[in-house]
Amino acid sequence: MQAIATLINARWIIPVEPDGLILEHHALAIQDGRIVALLPQDQAAACFTPETCLNLDGHVLIPGLINAHTHASMVLLRGLADDLPLMNWLQNHIWPAETRWVNPDFVRDGTRLAIAEMLRGGTTCFNDMYFFPEVTAAVARECGIRACVGLIALDFPTAYACNLDEYLSKGLALHQTLQTEPLLHVAFAPHSPYTVSAPALERIGRLAEDLGLPIHIHVHETAAEVAQFQTQHGCRPLERLNQLGLLSPRLLAVHMTQLEAAEIDRLAEVGAHVIHCPESNLKLASGFCPTAWLDAAGVNVAIGTDGAASNNDLDLFGELRTAALLGKGIAGDASVLPAARVLRMATLNGAQALGLAGETGSLQPGKAADIVAVDLSHPETEPMYNPLSQLVYATGRHQVSDVWVAGQRLLADRQLTTLDLAEALQRAREWGTKIRAGHSA
Ligand SMILES: [Zn+2]
Repeated sequence: MQAIATLINARWIIPVEPDGLILEHHALAIQDGRIVALLPQDQAAACFTPETCLNLDGHVLIPGLINAHTHASMVLLRGLADDLPLMNWLQNHIWPAETRWVNPDFVRDGTRLAIAEMLRGGTTCFNDMYFFPEVTAAVARECGIRACVGLIALDFPTAYACNLDEYLSKGLALHQTLQTEPLLHVAFAPHSPYTVSAPALERIGRLAEDLGLPIHIHVHETAAEVAQFQTQHGCRPLERLNQLGLLSPRLLAVHMTQLEAAEIDRLAEVGAHVIHCPESNLKLASGFCPTAWLDAAGVNVAIGTDGAASNNDLDLFGELRTAALLGKGIAGDASVLPAARVLRMATLNGAQALGLAGETGSLQPGKAADIVAVDLSHPETEPMYNPLSQLVYATGRHQVSDVWVAGQRLLADRQLTTLDLAEALQRAREWGTKIRAGHSA
C-alpha cells in the first residue's frame, strides 16, 4: 500500500487525453501536487492509503479549465458601458476609465474578484493581459491559482509605464522574479498591431525568441480594424506580423474574426495558436472566428473569455457552449466541433498554446493535479446519457463543486479556501461606487 495525500473517487472522469474517453467509477490519486495514478476505484482502494479520500458519486472530474485570454482586473468595469461597437466602447468609455482609475490597488482588488469568479467556475489557469502584471502575479500567488501574466506593451504612456523601454524593462524584471514560481508563467503581451509599432513588435519578437516566451496579442478583432490598418500600412495586420517574424508556435493570436483561406493555411504551417473569445466577439459584434475551418486545418484553437467589461463574465462553461453553437452555426454544419473537441479547446489546447501541455490541460499521471469536480446530479443535467454532452450543452458553472490547482483544494464544496470572498466583494463594491460617481460626472 502506498501512502498518498488525496484520493478522489468519482462517478465519471473525462481525462481529455485520450480524446473523447469517459471513464466510470475511476479514481485519481494525488501526491506532491501531481497526479500519480488514474485507475478503477477497486484497484485504487487496494493500492493507496490516502490522507484524504473524497467520494464524489454524482460528479465528473475534468482537467481544470484554462482561460486563454482575459484582462482579469477589468471585472471592476463590468457593465460600465455596454451595447457599443468596439472602437466607440474602447475610445470613449474603457480607455478614459482606465486612464482615470487603473493603479496597483485597482489591479489587486479586481484580480481578487476575478480569481474568485474564475475558481467558482472551474478555471484553474488564466492567461492575462493588463497593467501592473506584478500585482496580478502576487494576487494569483496568494490565491494559489495558475496564471500566465502578460508583459504588456503599448505605444502610448499609461499609469504603468511611459514608453516601450519602461514597459519592457518592468516586464523583464517581473520575468526574472517569477523564475522560481511553479504556478506563475509570463508571456509578452503587446496589445495589438494597431497600438504597438512595427519596430516595437520586432524587438518583442526577438526577445520572445531569446527567452523562449509566448507572444499574446489581439489580432484581426474586427473588419474595421483590418481595413484601417490596410489603409495606413498597406497590408493586413497578420501579414505585418509575418513580415516581422512573429508568426511562430510562440504566437497566441486573440480573436481572429477576419481570416482568409490563405491566412488559415499560414497559421497552420507556422504552428501559431488562435484564442477564440466567442461571447466578447458576439457582444461587440466584432465578427466570427472560423473555428471549424481552423480546427480542420490543424490550427490549435483555445478559448478565452476576454475581459469582463466586454463579455460580461469570466464563465468558461458559458464560453464552451457558445463556442460549440457558434462554430456549428457559422460552418452550417452541426457535426463540426463536437462536445469532446470543444472541451479540449478549453483545457489541453489552452495549455498547449501557453507551452504548458506537459504540466496541465489533461488528467494524466505525472501532470500537475489541476482538477475540477462538477456535480451532474443537479436537475439541469439529469437524466444522464452522456456526461460530455451534459458538460458542454447543459452544465452551468454553479455546478462546479471543487477545484484543485497543483493538488491544493482551492474550492471545497463551493467554498473558496485561499481567498476572503467577503472582503473581495466589499472592495469591488467600493470601486463600483467611486467609478460610477466619476463616470456620470
Ligand atoms: Zn482582450
